[in-house]
Amino acid sequence: MRRFGFGIDPEMCMQIRPYRLSQLNLGDFSLAGYSVAGEESVILAPELDVAFDIGKCPREALTVNHVLLSHGHMDHAAGITYYFAQRDFQGNEGGMALVPADLVGPLERLMTAWGAVEGHIPPHRFVGMVAGDEYEIRRGLLARALATNHLPGSLGFAVVDVRQKLKEQFLGLTGPQIVELKNKGVEITNRVEVPLVAFLGDTGLANYADLPYVANAKVLLIECTFFDADHLRRARAGKHMHVADLPKALEGISSERIIIIHVTRRTNMAAARKILRTTLPKDVLERITFLMSRQHIEED
Ligand SMILES: [Zn+2]
Ligand SMILES: [Zn+2]
Repeated sequence: MRRFGFGIDPEMCMQIRPYRLSQLNLGDFSLAGYSVAGEESVILAPELDVAFDIGKCPREALTVNHVLLSHGHMDHAAGITYYFAQRDFQGNEGGMALVPADLVGPLERLMTAWGAVEGHIPPHRFVGMVAGDEYEIRRGLLARALATNHLPGSLGFAVVDVRQKLKEQFLGLTGPQIVELKNKGVEITNRVEVPLVAFLGDTGLANYADLPYVANAKVLLIECTFFDADHLRRARAGKHMHVADLPKALEGISSERIIIIHVTRRTNMAAARKILRTTLPKDVLERITFLMSRQHIEED
């Protein structure tokens, strides 16, 4: 039997599988993430400068300036101290996190405790959010918090592009005419919202389609933790989505892309796809993909 120099049987070695983020190109922006229930959930939208949850803070997450934290479960929040510490270490100041309002105190205490461990508290900023609150990520781009059905105070987030559009009655006017109206103080534009991504964090079934910035989001990130028929009770107890909930959850959702996240590691993807094919209408099915689908992970 072939052995390594130091006497370890290669058959006995742990198989190290490379950790890779899935990548999806969505036209105007892209997503890169890793999301497995109970293990880690982090989804980056680099062009929008946000991370939906921080997971264990993969290296790629350090470049985005806004962490949108849905709730405090370890698989979603563990990397938050590392995020601030590592950014400080790299001289990349200015990172911040939008977090459920009742987590600001505990997270501050966590930073203090970690500071005592490491000998220094890195610069950090938590902004407490409740459902309906908005935060301007940059001019014309905002994050809006929404309530989710998971934990008290748990949140989802929609990233919304806000544009000013010339009112219809002024469309035929020349530049100077528009300037003249503007100088007279006439309101010539309408505020138009284009929701780009809606992220529902961890959640049981709720009426998300009632929120226009979710129903019309270009991309919907929706969890579906359980696919096994025996796991319906577990889904209810943990306030997670079961595949049996998906048809109702997606009713009225007109997103171009629906991306399923937070599937358990034990889920057999082929079986899961088969269930989707038998339970979802064709027009929904065509828009659905799994974040962790192998097709989104570059193999070399
Ligand atoms: Zn989770
Ligand atoms: Zn959770």
